[in-house]
Amino acid sequence: LDQFCGRINILLLLLALSSPCKFIQSPTDINHLNNLKDTSLNLLQSTSKASVDFGRFHFSSPSAVLRPKSPAEISILLSFLSSSSSSSSEVSVAARGAGHSIHGQAQALDGIVIEMESLPPAIEIRKLIHGEEGFSYADVSGGTLWVDLLEEALKFGLAPRSWTDYLYLTIGGTLSNAGISGQTYKYGPQISNVLQLEVVTGKGELLACSPAKNEELFYAVLGGLGQFGIITRARVLLQEAPRKVKWVRAFYDDFQAFTMDQELLISKPEKVDYVEGFIVLNANSVLNSAMAFSAQLEFIAELQKDNSKVFYCLEFAVHDYGTEETKTQRVVNEIAIRLSFLRPFIYSVEVSYYDFLNRVRMEEMSLRARGLWDVPHPWLNMFVPQNGIEEFKDLLLDSISPQAFEGPILIYPFLRDKWDANTSAVLPEFSPAVEAGGSGRVVYVVGLLQSTDPSRCSAACLNELLRRQRRLAEVTAGDRVGAKQYLGRQASPAKWREHFGRQWDRFADRKSRFDPLHLLSPGQGMFVRSA
Ligand code: FAD
Repeated sequence: LDQFCGRINILLLLLALSSPCKFIQSPTDINHLNNLKDTSLNLLQSTSKASVDFGRFHFSSPSAVLRPKSPAEISILLSFLSSSSSSSSEVSVAARGAGHSIHGQAQALDGIVIEMESLPPAIEIRKLIHGEEGFSYADVSGGTLWVDLLEEALKFGLAPRSWTDYLYLTIGGTLSNAGISGQTYKYGPQISNVLQLEVVTGKGELLACSPAKNEELFYAVLGGLGQFGIITRARVLLQEAPRKVKWVRAFYDDFQAFTMDQELLISKPEKVDYVEGFIVLNANSVLNSAMAFSAQLEFIAELQKDNSKVFYCLEFAVHDYGTEETKTQRVVNEIAIRLSFLRPFIYSVEVSYYDFLNRVRMEEMSLRARGLWDVPHPWLNMFVPQNGIEEFKDLLLDSISPQAFEGPILIYPFLRDKWDANTSAVLPEFSPAVEAGGSGRVVYVVGLLQSTDPSRCSAACLNELLRRQRRLAEVTAGDRVGAKQYLGRQASPAKWREHFGRQWDRFADRKSRFDPLHLLSPGQGMFVRSA
């Protein structure tokens, strides 16, 4: 019955889209459709959520929102749109995960937004029995939040290996980008930790894919920015979860010492389980990030002695499995001896694995309480080759006002060879000129995660911040630094081609194969919908 209702709903949506007014625009039409109770379709009355994202400065209204109850409903919709020569030929479709994009990437102007969170959330855990060959894994819907997967996996003593800093993002949303955090140097991004996918292509085909089956589709979709298909299910690798985590912060006033120590730590994956870091511009940089570190107030006093000085905070973690072999404090002491931080400014706390992974939630709650969560977020994320990181940092500091900057500036390294070059994700191109002297293995993530309080930063101020970011991204994308944007939206299809560089032909080829009419993810601004 559910399947039958699903089909009726899709037919109604298609009818609406191919009606003479093309979209349901008059209140009578909307009321008529809204009167159809218990339908998974929601027209206009719910499109406001679909026209907003975490960035809060890009708003495109769709004409309709689909809340699918099964992947088959998505398949029916895309099959119709890709085969129809009717008035729906201008309609495009965007999957919306948690809507945590910045630049409207999950929006579809006058098109259809598919709310992935409405797919049934069933999470199936397969735990390897002792002595059995293979991997533990979870089969999970594309609209599931990572935090829900974590909670379910922990019941089996398991957890995914690779994370994002924030867990209220969907599986399909982060797999469409890359999914990175302080574990990326060790296990690669989330897209390197997936065994198979179920995808509805732009042609409406519902296909299972993996490195062994429909291989091209599998790799295209991972890091594919929603361009090739909609991820309806994913098989995510799991491993034994530690019970606790020793979480350490050490402070520096020398950038080179800071990055050299980060690189030292990522060369020790057998000892360290997480490596990140951030720039300390002012007391808020420390206060707002991870309230768990109350002892670091002592460092804030030091910081306030000279307001013009910039500091750096190295963050690492060691997992505690509660066995005799893992004496985390001993490991931390061994590591600390080899680091060149400003003595005595090193702090550690012990927290549960869940609290460690969910640490940004605490910040979210605090910002929400102060009315500073649902505000514009002009964020910029860049991947920077190791040899360009110092110059990038200097250009970055020249482009901001350190005392006024609200939000963290993350900097941490990962290893290029943990990324699968078959996926669609883009890293800085390996250039012998830029990488001279280095191995070329190390790439840095730099994230300017700025919040703007509308009472203090007007529309003109926000535009100025965005202009400066664009400038920084453009200048550092040049040969001298060789950086690439992550999670960004390029200004035009031509800029996208530049961004992909040598990978563009493969990307365009995959697009013509899996979404030839350019139906999918119009919010990325990559391809123009064709009839
Ligand atoms: P959406 O914003 O809803 O969608 C993003 C894109 O993916 C759109 O183009 C959309 O059409 C497409 N899409 C969505 N679902 C699917 C699907 N099932 N199949 C195919 N395409 C789909 N990223 C990191 O890598 N590391 C971090 O540490 C990190 N931290 C973050 C912290 C915060 C507070 C926020 C707001 C974002 C963070 N991000 C991080 C960025 C985040 O990974 C991306 O914004 C991601 O797209 C968010 O997932 P979402 O579910 O909200 O996707």
